Parts: sequence; structure tokens; C-alpha cells
Amino acid sequence: MAKTVVILGGSLGGLHVAHALLKKHDKDLKVILVSKNTHFFWNLASVRAIIPGQIKDEDIFRPLESALSRYSATSWELLIGAATAADFDGKSVEVVLAADNSTRTISYDQLVLATGARCASPEAPWKAAGSYEDIIHSLHQTAAQVQDAEEIFVGGAGSTGIEVAGELGYEYGKTKAITLLCAGDRILNGDSVAPAAANELRKLNVTIRYDARVQSAKTHPDGKTEVTLANGETLTTDLHLPTTGLVPNTEYIPARYLSADANYRTVLVDEYLQVQGAQDVWACGDIVSKPRAGFFITQKQAASVAKNVEAALAGREPTVAKGPPVDIFACAVGRGRGAGRMGSIKLPSFGVWLAKGRTLGVAMVAGYIDGSVA
Ligand SMILES: Cc1cc2nc3c(=O)[nH]c(=O)nc-3n(C[C@H](O)[C@H](O)[C@H](O)COP(=O)(O)OP(=O)(O)OC[C@H]3O[C@@H](n4cnc5c(N)ncnc54)[C@H](O)[C@@H]3O)c2cc1C
Repeated sequence: MAKTVVILGGSLGGLHVAHALLKKHDKDLKVILVSKNTHFFWNLASVRAIIPGQIKDEDIFRPLESALSRYSATSWELLIGAATAADFDGKSVEVVLAADNSTRTISYDQLVLATGARCASPEAPWKAAGSYEDIIHSLHQTAAQVQDAEEIFVGGAGSTGIEVAGELGYEYGKTKAITLLCAGDRILNGDSVAPAAANELRKLNVTIRYDARVQSAKTHPDGKTEVTLANGETLTTDLHLPTTGLVPNTEYIPARYLSADANYRTVLVDEYLQVQGAQDVWACGDIVSKPRAGFFITQKQAASVAKNVEAALAGREPTVAKGPPVDIFACAVGRGRGAGRMGSIKLPSFGVWLAKGRTLGVAMVAGYIDGSVA
């Protein structure tokens, strides 16, 4: 009987692993992909999708079924629902199906955890926290609010905040007041890219307000939002777009497999990306967030996990997971420029635009559907 590999999460990590396995084991494996969403979401372009008219839904959302249907019908199953419990000793997971809220217990031979991380603010559209309909609604609603607002605050000056502020500045820098609220005295946590990114934002008329850590934000019935800063100051704006904080989607995993950091409960893995203390359970991407949460890191980890799952199924030893050869950190700043580095080498603004900001990687979506990514 074909062995069963269950993959939890149908995003950049999970779909990559599914393709890598199914491409080679179309006949002798059953891959069950569990996803909260019916669609694959290219979240890297969400920062531009909130600018009305810039990105079509179908460019960044594609049905997961269209990715899997190229393999034998008996080799895969797509379950739309959420993993709610996991028993690594008994080798099973519990999934609540979106269609009817029923619970299904699924046994596995190998399990891959790829449920990533969500935005700390539930209303933020940068990651898919709920269903496909939820995230589409959130993106459309944000785009409509952006259109109507005269003054916009972007809360948080990490890479998502820089990119959101850049997109807004590029489109509306001359017609709307755009302010980036930065918790400390330097954006991007003081990364060496920070001065170049700040300079690009200034060119787009984005005001950066330092030492402005957002403590809370409340929208009033008249539509205005009151933002309270950690220093007690209260600001009122037409729209506040929060970009701070990621929360690993690990609530269904027993606590003993998770990091002790109560604010960031990632799953603990060894050098093979096997979950520490568990057998036949692997993890990749933002659920691991090591060395950090990032797309290239997720891709590399997904490839390693697929290889180690294959090895485990064949009774071979796993191999140590490899990361990207060099740490690339790049922020698009609007549709014309950017700031970034490769290792410690600064990248020119034009180069970042060419490699990232021009399309925000939307062309890569095709590879996740036709499987060429893996
Ligand atoms: C705006 C933005 C821009 C970015 N740009 C870059 C960049 O330029 N370069 C870079 O390196 N990285 C970038 N990143 C980071 C990159 O998006 C992540 O590293 C990547 O998405 C991680 O993929 P993942 O598959 O691990 O998890 P996620 O993309 O977080 O996906 C997890 C999936 O699992 C689903 N899920 C959650 N809980 C459950 C459950 N219980 N059961 C079933 N399914 C579940 C979720 O709905 C989601 O579909 C960016 C991130 C953001 C937010």
C-alpha cells in the first residue's frame, strides 16, 4: 500500500514539498495537503495589491487544485480545513474541514508542518490567516480604504512596513499624507539597508516618524482611527495599516515541541529539519523562522524536507538541511526603486527594483502551479 505523507499548510513551503514529492512519486505515494485556503497566495505582492488597480486577484491567487491535478488522481488529496491537533506519538493529526466543520483524524507515515505564521493584527492583509474569501475581502477592503483616505499611517518600520509605505508613497506621495511610524530611532531594526531605504522613502514624500511605537489603534464609527503610541501620545488618522509582528501558526502542536518564547512559539527542529523529540515529523518555512522568516529560506528548507521525507520512506539517513548560500535582504520601495544587500554588500536601488520591485515576484506564481519551483 502507498505510504501517506501529510503536509499541513498549502503556501510557499507546503506546496513546494508537495510538488517535490509528487514529481518523483506519482505512483507510490499518497500526499494529503491540508490547507485553510482553496488558493495558493503570493503574499509577497500583497503590499502592492492594496493599491487600487495595480494587481489582479488572479495574478496572486491560484487554485491549489490546479497545481495538484497534474499528478495521478490517486496520489494526492486536497483537504480544505485547519489542523487543530497533532499526536506525534500516535502519528495522526486532527483536521476540521471547512465544508461542514466536521473533524477528520488522519494517520500518516511522514508529516510535514508548513503552517507558517500570520500577522499579529488579524485585519492585516499581508498573510492568509483565514480562508481564501477572507483574504480576498481583506485586500479589497484595504484597497478601498486606501483610495478614500487622505492621511495614512503605516504602523511598524520592518520590511513589510517599508514596502507598504513605499507603494503608498509611489502612488500617492503628492496627493495624500503618508507617515511611517517607527518604534525606535532607525527603521529596519538598524539593518545596514536602513539609511538607503529611508532615503528612498523620503524621495516619495513619505514622512518617517521615529520613536513612535504603536501601542493600540481603534477605529471610530466616523471611520477615523485613533492610534495610541507607547509614549501615551494619541494621533488621529483616516487609515492605519499595521505591519508589525508575526505569530507562528503552531497552536495545534503540543507545547513540548515548541520554543519557550511565549511571544514567538515556533516549532523546534534539528539540523535535518526534523521536529525535535518527534519521529517522522518535519517542518519548514515561517513555522520554523530560523535563521529568520523568509521566502528564500522557506524554499531551501522545503527542498531539504522533501529530500529527507523521501529518505525516511526509503529507510535512508537524513541529510543536513542547507540554507541559501548568501543572505539576501531586499525591500522594494515603490514601483521604481528599492534598497537591499547581498550579505554585507549593498545592492544598487536599480538592481533591487529589477530583481524585486518591478513585479514583486508575481511571475514566480506559475512555478508553484506547474511544479517547476521544486
Ligand atoms: C508583505 C510580505 C512581503 C514579503 N517579502 C519577502 C521577500 O521579499 N523576501 C523574503 O525572503 N521573504 C519575504 N516575505 C516572507 C515570506 O512571505 C514568508 O517567508 C513565506 O510566506 C513563508 O511561507 P510558509 O509556507 O512557511 O508560510 P505562510 O506563507 O505563512 O503560509 C502558511 C499557510 O498555512 C496555512 N495555515 C495556517 N494554520 C493552518 C492550520 N492550522 N491548518 C492548515 N493550514 C494552516 C495558512 O493559511 C497559510 O496558507 C514576505 C512576507 C510578507 C508578509
